[in-house]
Amino acid sequence: MPLPVTDPPPRAPQARELFERSERERTIALPPQAELARAARRLAAALRSGEVEEVGAACSALVELLAVFYAVPPPRVEVLQVRPRTLREGWEMQLHGEYDPESATIRVWMRTAVRRQLVAFPTLCETLLHEFCHHLDCVRWGDTWHTRGFYERVRRLYTHALRMRWVDPVWRRGRGGRWWMDLHAMRVARRGAQGD
Ligand SMILES: [Zn+2]
Repeated sequence: MPLPVTDPPPRAPQARELFERSERERTIALPPQAELARAARRLAAALRSGEVEEVGAACSALVELLAVFYAVPPPRVEVLQVRPRTLREGWEMQLHGEYDPESATIRVWMRTAVRRQLVAFPTLCETLLHEFCHHLDCVRWGDTWHTRGFYERVRRLYTHALRMRWVDPVWRRGRGGRWWMDLHAMRVARRGAQGD
């Protein structure tokens, strides 16, 4: 996954209010774990098949389950093959997924840009949940930001779907009011917890 880095806080008062609301919401109600985990396993199996139609159907089923639980209209889901390369703040990176609020469409890519290999299942799953959380924000609040709250909500869903132990996010202060999630420190904490 691209490093979870927050957006810089916006200046316009209305946007700022929404940003802070998103920042404060550190958790999210979680759907029944058995159902969500089953949908995630179906997605893992579909990805192993390498068939774009199967991956598309599994992504749509997972997202529909979430939409029903959160009582929002389901977004459209498009699964595409090879990740496009894109520039983000001067760095070339692969686009993992995107959400278009206008058409309420989630797009995810199932193959890496250069070697065209299937992406790792946890990455695909996290990308899908990340884009779904953008959809949820847009339906509930009319806009969406990458805040610490946003990333923590995604992570709650992700660890729940994959039946992973919850580890409190470790945030480091970046430049310009941004924060980044220290995934390495969290992996170390997770290993420590499992060693007990
Ligand atoms: Zn995003």
